[in-house]
Amino acid sequence: MIPSILPTYNRAPLSFVRGEGAWLIEADGRRFLDLGAGIAVNALGHAHPGLVEALTEQAGRLWHTSNLFHIPKQQELADRLVAETFADTVFFTNSGTEACELAIKMARKHFHDAGQPGRTTILTFEGAFHGRSSAAIAAAGSEKMTKGFEPLLPGFRHLPWGDHDALHAAIDETVGAILIEPVQGEGGIRALPDQCLKGLRALCDAHGLLLILDEVQCGMGRTGRLFAHEWAGVTPDIMMVAKGIGGGFPLGAVLATEAAAAGMGAGTHGSTYGGNPLACAVGCAVMAHVADPDFLAGVRRKSALLRQRLEGLVAAHPDVFEEVRGMGLMLGLKCRMPNTEVVQAGHDALLITVPAADNVLRLLPPLTITEAEIAEALTRLDAAATALETA
Ligand SMILES: *Cc1c(COP(=O)(O)O)cnc(C)c1O
Repeated sequence: MIPSILPTYNRAPLSFVRGEGAWLIEADGRRFLDLGAGIAVNALGHAHPGLVEALTEQAGRLWHTSNLFHIPKQQELADRLVAETFADTVFFTNSGTEACELAIKMARKHFHDAGQPGRTTILTFEGAFHGRSSAAIAAAGSEKMTKGFEPLLPGFRHLPWGDHDALHAAIDETVGAILIEPVQGEGGIRALPDQCLKGLRALCDAHGLLLILDEVQCGMGRTGRLFAHEWAGVTPDIMMVAKGIGGGFPLGAVLATEAAAAGMGAGTHGSTYGGNPLACAVGCAVMAHVADPDFLAGVRRKSALLRQRLEGLVAAHPDVFEEVRGMGLMLGLKCRMPNTEVVQAGHDALLITVPAADNVLRLLPPLTITEAEIAEALTRLDAAATALETA
Protein backbone atom coordinates (compact mmCIF):
# COMPACT_ATOMS: atom_id res chain seq x y z
CA MET A 1 0.00 0.00 0.00
CA ILE A 2 1.36 3.42 -0.89
CA PRO A 3 2.32 5.42 2.21
CA SER A 4 0.35 8.54 3.06
CA ILE A 5 3.47 10.54 2.14
CA LEU A 6 4.39 9.94 -1.52
CA PRO A 7 7.51 7.79 -1.11
CA THR A 8 9.95 9.84 -3.23
CA TYR A 9 12.50 9.99 -0.41
CA ASN A 10 14.47 7.33 1.43
CA ARG A 11 14.33 8.81 4.90
CA ALA A 12 16.65 8.05 7.80
CA PRO A 13 14.80 6.70 10.86
CA LEU A 14 15.30 9.97 12.73
CA SER A 15 12.89 12.74 13.54
CA PHE A 16 14.07 15.94 15.09
CA VAL A 17 11.88 17.95 17.39
CA ARG A 18 14.11 20.93 18.18
CA GLY A 19 17.20 22.71 16.93
CA GLU A 20 19.74 24.94 18.67
CA GLY A 21 22.49 26.47 16.53
CA ALA A 22 24.45 23.58 15.02
CA TRP A 23 22.53 20.97 17.06
CA LEU A 24 19.46 18.89 16.29
CA ILE A 25 17.60 17.19 19.10
CA GLU A 26 15.96 13.87 18.25
CA ALA A 27 12.56 12.86 19.64
CA ASP A 28 14.36 10.51 22.05
CA GLY A 29 16.55 13.34 23.37
CA ARG A 30 19.80 12.50 21.56
CA ARG A 31 21.77 15.54 20.38
CA PHE A 32 23.12 15.34 16.83
CA LEU A 33 25.77 17.72 15.54
CA ASP A 34 24.40 19.05 12.25
CA LEU A 35 26.86 19.23 9.35
CA GLY A 36 24.00 19.17 6.86
CA ALA A 37 22.03 22.30 7.76
CA GLY A 38 18.99 20.97 5.92
CA ILE A 39 21.12 20.76 2.73
CA ALA A 40 22.89 24.13 3.06
CA VAL A 41 19.71 25.92 4.11
CA ASN A 42 20.11 26.78 7.80
CA ALA A 43 22.94 29.26 7.17
CA LEU A 44 22.56 30.78 10.64
CA GLY A 45 21.85 27.48 12.38
CA HIS A 46 18.64 26.38 14.04
CA ALA A 47 16.40 28.72 16.04
CA HIS A 48 18.68 31.73 15.54
CA PRO A 49 17.22 34.39 17.89
CA GLY A 50 17.44 37.14 15.25
CA LEU A 51 15.53 35.05 12.71
CA VAL A 52 12.95 33.90 15.25
CA GLU A 53 12.37 37.52 16.17
CA ALA A 54 12.12 38.69 12.56
CA LEU A 55 9.62 35.95 11.72
CA THR A 56 7.44 36.22 14.81
CA GLU A 57 7.38 40.00 14.63
CA GLN A 58 6.15 39.83 11.03
CA ALA A 59 3.78 36.94 11.82
CA GLY A 60 2.06 39.07 14.43
CA ARG A 61 1.43 41.86 11.94
CA LEU A 62 0.83 40.58 8.40
CA TRP A 63 1.46 37.27 6.62
CA HIS A 64 0.49 37.73 3.04
CA THR A 65 -0.93 40.28 0.64
CA SER A 66 0.14 38.97 -2.83
CA ASN A 67 2.28 40.83 -5.32
CA LEU A 68 -0.68 42.97 -6.35
CA PHE A 69 0.61 45.34 -3.66
CA HIS A 70 3.91 46.78 -2.50
CA ILE A 71 5.64 44.67 0.14
CA PRO A 72 8.05 46.78 2.23
CA LYS A 73 10.27 43.88 3.36
CA GLN A 74 10.50 42.62 -0.24
CA GLN A 75 11.64 46.08 -1.35
CA GLU A 76 14.19 46.21 1.47
CA LEU A 77 15.61 42.79 0.60
CA ALA A 78 15.75 43.55 -3.14
CA ASP A 79 17.53 46.85 -2.47
CA ARG A 80 20.05 45.10 -0.23
CA LEU A 81 20.74 42.35 -2.80
CA VAL A 82 21.16 44.93 -5.55
CA ALA A 83 23.51 46.96 -3.33
CA GLU A 84 25.67 43.93 -2.47
CA THR A 85 25.91 42.28 -5.90
CA PHE A 86 26.24 42.69 -9.68
CA ALA A 87 22.46 42.71 -10.00
CA ASP A 88 20.20 45.61 -10.96
CA THR A 89 16.95 43.78 -10.26
CA VAL A 90 15.53 40.83 -8.29
CA PHE A 91 12.51 38.52 -8.55
CA PHE A 92 11.64 36.46 -5.47
CA THR A 93 10.55 32.84 -5.58
CA ASN A 94 9.86 30.13 -2.98
CA SER A 95 12.55 27.71 -4.07
CA GLY A 96 15.61 27.09 -6.20
CA THR A 97 13.58 25.23 -8.79
CA GLU A 98 11.36 28.22 -9.34
CA ALA A 99 14.44 30.42 -9.64
CA CYS A 100 15.64 28.05 -12.38
CA GLU A 101 12.33 28.38 -14.21
CA LEU A 102 12.58 32.15 -14.31
CA ALA A 103 16.27 32.16 -15.23
CA ILE A 104 15.45 30.04 -18.30
CA LYS A 105 12.41 32.12 -19.23
CA MET A 106 14.40 35.32 -18.80
CA ALA A 107 17.17 34.12 -21.12
CA ARG A 108 14.67 33.13 -23.80
CA LYS A 109 12.80 36.42 -23.52
CA HIS A 110 16.05 38.35 -23.69
CA PHE A 111 16.94 36.90 -27.09
CA HIS A 112 13.36 37.05 -28.33
CA ASP A 113 13.24 40.77 -27.61
CA ALA A 114 16.73 41.26 -29.03
CA GLY A 115 15.48 40.01 -32.40
CA GLN A 116 17.41 36.73 -32.09
CA PRO A 117 14.58 34.29 -31.31
CA GLY A 118 16.62 31.35 -32.59
CA ARG A 119 19.04 31.55 -29.70
CA THR A 120 17.10 29.24 -27.41
CA THR A 121 19.77 26.67 -26.55
CA ILE A 122 21.27 26.75 -23.07
CA LEU A 123 24.52 24.90 -22.45
CA THR A 124 24.62 22.92 -19.21
CA PHE A 125 27.04 20.47 -17.63
CA GLU A 126 27.20 16.86 -16.57
CA GLY A 127 26.67 16.41 -12.84
CA ALA A 128 24.55 19.56 -12.64
CA PHE A 129 21.51 19.93 -10.43
CA HIS A 130 19.06 22.78 -10.94
CA GLY A 131 15.88 21.44 -9.33
CA ARG A 132 13.10 18.97 -10.12
CA SER A 133 10.65 20.83 -12.37
CA SER A 134 10.30 19.76 -15.99
CA ALA A 135 12.60 22.58 -17.07
CA ALA A 136 15.16 21.94 -14.32
CA ILE A 137 15.48 18.21 -15.00
CA ALA A 138 15.76 18.89 -18.73
CA ALA A 139 18.48 21.44 -17.95
CA ALA A 140 20.50 19.02 -15.81
CA GLY A 141 19.76 16.11 -18.10
CA SER A 142 20.87 13.16 -15.98
CA GLU A 143 19.02 9.92 -16.62
CA LYS A 144 18.43 9.51 -12.89
CA MET A 145 16.15 12.55 -12.92
CA THR A 146 14.69 12.43 -16.44
CA LYS A 147 13.94 8.75 -17.11
CA GLY A 148 10.21 8.19 -17.46
CA PHE A 149 9.40 11.88 -17.54
CA GLU A 150 9.79 12.46 -21.26
CA PRO A 151 9.10 14.36 -23.40
CA LEU A 152 11.58 16.81 -21.89
CA LEU A 153 11.59 20.56 -22.43
CA PRO A 154 13.80 21.14 -25.45
CA GLY A 155 16.57 23.70 -25.60
CA PHE A 156 19.45 22.25 -23.58
CA ARG A 157 22.80 20.85 -24.66
CA HIS A 158 24.66 18.86 -22.02
CA LEU A 159 28.43 19.02 -21.91
CA PRO A 160 31.05 17.06 -20.00
CA TRP A 161 32.50 18.82 -16.94
CA GLY A 162 35.84 20.49 -17.63
CA ASP A 163 36.05 19.74 -21.38
CA HIS A 164 37.01 23.02 -23.04
CA ASP A 165 37.04 21.64 -26.57
CA ALA A 166 33.50 20.26 -26.21
CA LEU A 167 32.37 23.61 -24.86
CA HIS A 168 33.82 25.61 -27.73
CA ALA A 169 32.50 23.12 -30.28
CA ALA A 170 28.97 23.37 -28.79
CA ILE A 171 28.62 27.09 -29.45
CA ASP A 172 26.61 27.81 -32.58
CA GLU A 173 23.99 30.35 -33.66
CA THR A 174 21.25 28.59 -31.63
CA VAL A 175 23.06 29.03 -28.29
CA GLY A 176 21.95 31.87 -26.03
CA ALA A 177 23.25 31.09 -22.58
CA ILE A 178 25.50 28.98 -20.37
CA LEU A 179 24.06 27.72 -17.08
CA ILE A 180 26.45 26.40 -14.42
CA GLU A 181 26.95 25.99 -10.67
CA PRO A 182 30.22 27.62 -9.55
CA VAL A 183 30.45 24.73 -7.08
CA GLN A 184 28.39 21.65 -7.91
CA GLY A 185 26.56 20.48 -4.80
CA GLU A 186 24.49 17.39 -5.64
CA GLY A 187 27.10 16.51 -8.26
CA GLY A 188 29.67 15.85 -5.54
CA ILE A 189 31.15 19.18 -4.38
CA ARG A 190 33.01 19.96 -7.57
CA ALA A 191 34.32 23.54 -7.63
CA LEU A 192 34.82 25.26 -10.95
CA PRO A 193 38.37 26.67 -10.91
CA ASP A 194 38.51 30.49 -10.96
CA GLN A 195 40.20 30.55 -14.36
CA CYS A 196 37.38 28.42 -15.82
CA LEU A 197 34.71 30.80 -14.57
CA LYS A 198 36.75 33.69 -15.98
CA GLY A 199 36.99 31.77 -19.24
CA LEU A 200 33.23 31.20 -19.34
CA ARG A 201 32.65 34.92 -18.83
CA ALA A 202 35.05 35.76 -21.66
CA LEU A 203 33.41 33.19 -23.92
CA CYS A 204 29.95 34.61 -23.18
CA ASP A 205 31.19 38.13 -23.92
CA ALA A 206 32.82 37.03 -27.18
CA HIS A 207 29.65 35.30 -28.44
CA GLY A 208 26.99 37.56 -26.91
CA LEU A 209 25.76 34.82 -24.56
CA LEU A 210 24.20 35.21 -21.13
CA LEU A 211 26.08 33.65 -18.21
CA ILE A 212 23.59 32.15 -15.76
CA LEU A 213 25.03 31.02 -12.43
CA ASP A 214 23.17 28.65 -10.15
CA GLU A 215 24.26 29.74 -6.67
CA VAL A 216 21.32 28.08 -4.93
CA GLN A 217 23.66 25.91 -2.84
CA CYS A 218 27.04 27.70 -3.02
CA GLY A 219 25.73 31.24 -2.52
CA MET A 220 24.79 33.24 0.59
CA GLY A 221 28.18 33.05 2.28
CA ARG A 222 28.64 29.30 1.89
CA THR A 223 32.09 29.61 0.25
CA GLY A 224 33.29 32.49 2.44
CA ARG A 225 32.20 35.19 0.01
CA LEU A 226 28.61 36.39 -0.25
CA PHE A 227 28.45 34.64 -3.65
CA ALA A 228 30.91 32.06 -4.94
CA HIS A 229 31.58 33.81 -8.27
CA GLU A 230 33.18 36.70 -6.37
CA TRP A 231 36.28 34.51 -5.88
CA ALA A 232 36.88 34.57 -9.66
CA GLY A 233 36.34 38.32 -9.93
CA VAL A 234 33.70 38.00 -12.65
CA THR A 235 29.94 38.52 -12.59
CA PRO A 236 27.04 36.67 -14.23
CA ASP A 237 24.14 38.17 -16.15
CA ILE A 238 21.56 36.12 -14.25
CA MET A 239 21.93 34.29 -10.94
CA MET A 240 19.70 31.80 -9.12
CA VAL A 241 19.64 31.95 -5.32
CA ALA A 242 17.64 29.99 -2.72
CA LYS A 243 18.51 27.63 0.18
CA GLY A 244 20.59 29.82 2.55
CA ILE A 245 18.80 33.08 1.73
CA GLY A 246 15.76 32.08 3.79
CA GLY A 247 17.74 30.41 6.57
CA GLY A 248 15.04 27.68 6.68
CA PHE A 249 12.05 29.72 5.53
CA PRO A 250 11.21 28.93 1.88
CA LEU A 251 12.70 31.74 -0.21
CA GLY A 252 14.54 31.98 -3.49
CA ALA A 253 15.46 34.71 -5.93
CA VAL A 254 16.65 35.47 -9.42
CA LEU A 255 19.12 38.32 -9.62
CA ALA A 256 19.85 39.90 -12.99
CA THR A 257 21.42 42.79 -14.78
CA GLU A 258 19.16 45.37 -16.36
CA ALA A 259 20.20 44.21 -19.83
CA ALA A 260 19.43 40.54 -19.16
CA ALA A 261 16.09 41.29 -17.51
CA ALA A 262 14.92 43.99 -19.91
CA GLY A 263 12.14 41.89 -21.46
CA MET A 264 10.50 40.94 -18.18
CA GLY A 265 7.82 43.60 -17.94
CA ALA A 266 4.42 43.50 -16.21
CA GLY A 267 2.59 40.25 -16.86
CA THR A 268 5.57 38.24 -18.14
CA HIS A 269 6.06 36.27 -14.91
CA GLY A 270 4.53 35.93 -11.49
CA SER A 271 4.23 34.08 -8.20
CA THR A 272 1.47 34.18 -5.62
CA TYR A 273 3.78 33.59 -2.68
CA GLY A 274 7.13 34.72 -4.05
CA GLY A 275 8.65 37.40 -1.82
CA ASN A 276 5.84 37.34 0.69
CA PRO A 277 6.16 39.37 3.91
CA LEU A 278 7.13 36.42 6.13
CA ALA A 279 9.82 35.13 3.76
CA CYS A 280 11.29 38.57 3.15
CA ALA A 281 11.32 39.54 6.84
CA VAL A 282 13.48 36.46 7.43
CA GLY A 283 15.52 37.08 4.27
CA CYS A 284 16.37 40.61 5.43
CA ALA A 285 17.55 39.24 8.78
CA VAL A 286 19.67 36.57 7.08
CA MET A 287 21.25 39.16 4.76
CA ALA A 288 22.04 41.47 7.69
CA HIS A 289 24.29 38.74 9.11
CA VAL A 290 25.67 37.00 6.04
CA ALA A 291 26.58 40.14 4.06
CA ASP A 292 28.66 41.44 7.00
CA PRO A 293 32.39 41.28 6.00
CA ASP A 294 33.32 40.11 9.51
CA PHE A 295 30.84 37.23 9.28
CA LEU A 296 32.29 36.19 5.91
CA ALA A 297 35.85 36.42 7.29
CA GLY A 298 34.69 34.10 10.07
CA VAL A 299 33.38 31.60 7.52
CA ARG A 300 36.78 31.64 5.76
CA ARG A 301 38.62 31.17 9.07
CA LYS A 302 36.41 28.25 10.09
CA SER A 303 36.71 26.76 6.62
CA ALA A 304 40.50 26.73 6.87
CA LEU A 305 40.29 25.04 10.27
CA LEU A 306 37.74 22.44 9.16
CA ARG A 307 39.63 21.71 5.98
CA GLN A 308 42.94 21.24 7.78
CA ARG A 309 41.31 18.88 10.28
CA LEU A 310 39.61 16.93 7.46
CA GLU A 311 42.96 16.45 5.70
CA GLY A 312 44.17 14.85 8.93
CA LEU A 313 41.06 12.66 9.05
CA VAL A 314 41.61 11.44 5.49
CA ALA A 315 45.26 10.67 6.29
CA ALA A 316 44.21 8.74 9.41
CA HIS A 317 41.52 6.71 7.60
CA PRO A 318 42.76 5.97 4.08
CA ASP A 319 40.42 2.97 3.77
CA VAL A 320 37.35 5.14 4.37
CA PHE A 321 38.26 8.47 2.75
CA GLU A 322 40.10 9.41 -0.40
CA GLU A 323 40.27 13.21 -0.44
CA VAL A 324 38.83 16.53 0.75
CA ARG A 325 37.31 18.86 -1.84
CA GLY A 326 35.26 22.04 -2.01
CA MET A 327 35.39 25.61 -0.74
CA GLY A 328 34.43 27.48 2.40
CA LEU A 329 31.95 25.53 4.47
CA MET A 330 30.86 23.57 1.40
CA LEU A 331 33.27 20.68 1.72
CA GLY A 332 33.15 17.12 0.47
CA LEU A 333 34.87 13.93 1.52
CA LYS A 334 35.32 11.55 -1.39
CA CYS A 335 34.74 8.11 0.12
CA ARG A 336 36.36 4.75 -0.58
CA MET A 337 33.39 2.85 0.80
CA PRO A 338 29.76 3.58 -0.11
CA ASN A 339 28.98 7.11 1.07
CA THR A 340 25.58 5.98 2.37
CA GLU A 341 27.38 3.68 4.82
CA VAL A 342 29.50 6.60 5.99
CA VAL A 343 26.39 8.76 6.46
CA GLN A 344 24.88 5.91 8.51
CA ALA A 345 28.03 5.55 10.63
CA GLY A 346 27.81 9.31 11.20
CA HIS A 347 24.26 8.92 12.49
CA ASP A 348 25.49 6.23 14.88
CA ALA A 349 28.10 8.74 16.11
CA LEU A 350 25.36 11.44 16.42
CA LEU A 351 26.55 13.44 13.42
CA ILE A 352 24.53 14.58 10.39
CA THR A 353 26.13 14.72 6.94
CA VAL A 354 24.63 14.67 3.43
CA PRO A 355 25.49 12.24 0.62
CA ALA A 356 26.16 13.51 -2.92
CA ALA A 357 26.94 11.98 -6.31
CA ASP A 358 30.44 10.70 -7.10
CA ASN A 359 30.45 8.85 -3.74
CA VAL A 360 31.00 12.07 -1.79
CA LEU A 361 29.99 12.92 1.75
CA ARG A 362 28.92 16.57 1.94
CA LEU A 363 29.75 18.73 4.95
CA LEU A 364 27.53 21.81 4.91
CA PRO A 365 27.42 23.02 8.51
CA PRO A 366 25.58 26.14 9.60
CA LEU A 367 27.89 29.07 8.84
CA THR A 368 27.61 29.93 12.53
CA ILE A 369 29.27 26.69 13.67
CA THR A 370 31.91 27.39 16.35
CA GLU A 371 35.52 26.24 16.39
CA ALA A 372 34.72 24.02 19.39
CA GLU A 373 31.88 22.42 17.42
CA ILE A 374 34.24 21.83 14.48
CA ALA A 375 36.57 20.01 16.87
CA GLU A 376 33.61 17.95 18.15
CA ALA A 377 32.57 17.18 14.56
CA LEU A 378 36.03 15.78 13.86
CA THR A 379 35.86 13.61 16.99
CA ARG A 380 32.56 12.18 15.74
CA LEU A 381 33.77 11.73 12.15
CA ASP A 382 36.83 9.94 13.51
CA ALA A 383 34.59 7.66 15.61
CA ALA A 384 32.41 6.92 12.57
CA ALA A 385 35.44 6.08 10.42
CA THR A 386 36.94 3.90 13.13
CA ALA A 387 33.65 2.00 13.48
CA LEU A 388 33.58 1.40 9.70
CA GLU A 389 37.17 0.13 9.71
CA THR A 390 36.54 -2.34 12.52
CA ALA A 391 33.14 -3.50 11.22
C1 LIG B 1 18.79 22.63 -4.16
C2 LIG B 1 19.22 23.15 -5.46
C3 LIG B 1 18.29 23.56 -6.43
C4 LIG B 1 16.80 23.39 -6.25
O1 LIG B 1 16.32 24.10 -5.15
P1 LIG B 1 14.90 23.69 -4.50
O2 LIG B 1 14.72 24.75 -3.46
O3 LIG B 1 15.05 22.32 -3.96
O4 LIG B 1 13.89 23.79 -5.56
C5 LIG B 1 18.76 24.12 -7.59
N1 LIG B 1 20.08 24.27 -7.81
C6 LIG B 1 21.01 23.88 -6.91
C7 LIG B 1 22.45 24.09 -7.20
C8 LIG B 1 20.60 23.30 -5.71
O5 LIG B 1 21.52 22.87 -4.84
